[in-house]
Amino acid sequence: MNNYHLLEIEFENNGQKQFITPTIIRNDCDTILIDCGYPNFIPLLEEAANWHNITLDSITKLIVTHHDMDHIGSLAALKRNYPHIDIIAHELDAPYIEGEKKSLRLEQAESTFGTLPDEAKPQAEQFIRFIQSIESVPVDRTVSNDERLPWCGGIDIVHTPGHMPGHISLFLPACKTLIAGDAVVIEQGKLNIANPQFTLDLDEAVRSVQRLLNYDIEQLICYHGGLFNGDVKQALRQLIHRYTSGQLYAKSD
Ligand SMILES: [Zn+2]
Repeated sequence: MNNYHLLEIEFENNGQKQFITPTIIRNDCDTILIDCGYPNFIPLLEEAANWHNITLDSITKLIVTHHDMDHIGSLAALKRNYPHIDIIAHELDAPYIEGEKKSLRLEQAESTFGTLPDEAKPQAEQFIRFIQSIESVPVDRTVSNDERLPWCGGIDIVHTPGHMPGHISLFLPACKTLIAGDAVVIEQGKLNIANPQFTLDLDEAVRSVQRLLNYDIEQLICYHGGLFNGDVKQALRQLIHRYTSGQLYAKSD
């Protein structure tokens, strides 16, 4: 039984077509949104949810996989529009979502700024201003690794640090489905680690993929790439092999 709905959102960024895939998990009691897109994405979320006969005002909870702007950009606005929505995030990520700690993405962008050639600086400045514009919002509940949330047939929290230290993926045992967030992405039909440039700790990210093999995953949903087509466990093993055999480390240096 699959009780999830993929919200496939298409948009343009700097003239390039892009896609993200927030997910809704749902039963009679709860409608739970996982991640919510860039700032001003409420109309796009609404449209994608309506396509599944779901309205945004029926959302009861919103689980955040990590505090990147494509995952929390519309979080504050959603909470303003629908104050009854409970926001849930990993305990290590909550201080960044709440604005208590400075965004790790902002820190990364600021710390690399000085090393950039002059011609790359205007775009980097724009990126920094964009991250600074993300509104903070209180987190209603924090979670940690191995916790099972009781809603919608059970949601297991899988701590998958690497891309960011407080990154989580969600395993739904009832339908053997993993909602990966950015722990893995789909590129040209293949699983990969999210862009190494934005992965704060690549070794940790590979170890997190290794940890996913402890779960009986038959279906895999990536925020970047949507539903994976193929043998998930085999694809995860191949990904780990590619990284641990060194080929991709050399490439990303
Ligand atoms: Zn992302």
